[in-house]
Amino acid sequence: MIRFEGVSKRFGDFEVLKSIDFEARQGERIVVCGPSGSGKSTLIRCINGLEPHDAGTITVEGVTLGRGKAAPARVRNGVGMVFQQFNLFPHLTVLQNLTLGPIRARKLTQAQARETAMRYLERVRIPEQADKYPRQLSGGQQQRVAIARSLCMEPRIMLFDEPTSALDPEMISEVLDVMVELAGTGMTMIVVTHEMGFARKVADRMVFMDHGQIVETAPPEAFFTAPRSQRCRDFLNKIL
Ligand code: ATP
Ligand code: MG
Repeated sequence: MIRFEGVSKRFGDFEVLKSIDFEARQGERIVVCGPSGSGKSTLIRCINGLEPHDAGTITVEGVTLGRGKAAPARVRNGVGMVFQQFNLFPHLTVLQNLTLGPIRARKLTQAQARETAMRYLERVRIPEQADKYPRQLSGGQQQRVAIARSLCMEPRIMLFDEPTSALDPEMISEVLDVMVELAGTGMTMIVVTHEMGFARKVADRMVFMDHGQIVETAPPEAFFTAPRSQRCRDFLNKIL
């Protein structure tokens, strides 16, 4: 359902993705890791067209993304994304953050959008925070709101870009728990993270990137116990 064929992307002279071939099936959970600057964020941002690619072909649920231009609404709305920085609207309450997109893009009524929002706030276990503003919440709570906000758009694919790396250590697990639960619902998930405990628990497949290439891809068991490349071994030695 997501397919990259020979996808390249450059920023000026710098080739950030080098002829990437990659596939994710429906319901598959993929964890992407690799050194800083290896192209992980760029790879997942290409999936929802946040970054246009320059060469090769990206297909998302049968829709081919045009080179050098924004993705069509069907792809943007069907692919949710959660960032390291929570990116909530600071001047809106939690509930308003959650209802804005569905009212505008999915044409839900206020009442329908509220009902959906409360359902997902319950899913992320903070329904009691609905009327607060983002600054009144902890980092872990804000990130759970960000996840709920994405889910309110009823995406078929969820992308996560280091969702816990801006959090204080004691808040990491409350966010990972929500993600583990989401994985249990059969959602297609592509997660950039260095939380290897999470990866072992939920990943169907690990992807290791270095210098704009996918160097290795394997199920977690094989990936962690017998990485094939030296680059991957070096990386795992550093983070494990
Ligand atoms: P990190 O682990 O630090 O988040 P990453 O693997 O996500 O790294 P990317 O953010 O995809 O890496 O960036 C890959 C390379 O592309 C980096 O060298 C980065 O400096 C460069 N890059 C990313 N975005 C841009 C941009 N908008 N303009 C120019 N260079 C960029
Ligand atoms: Mg990144």
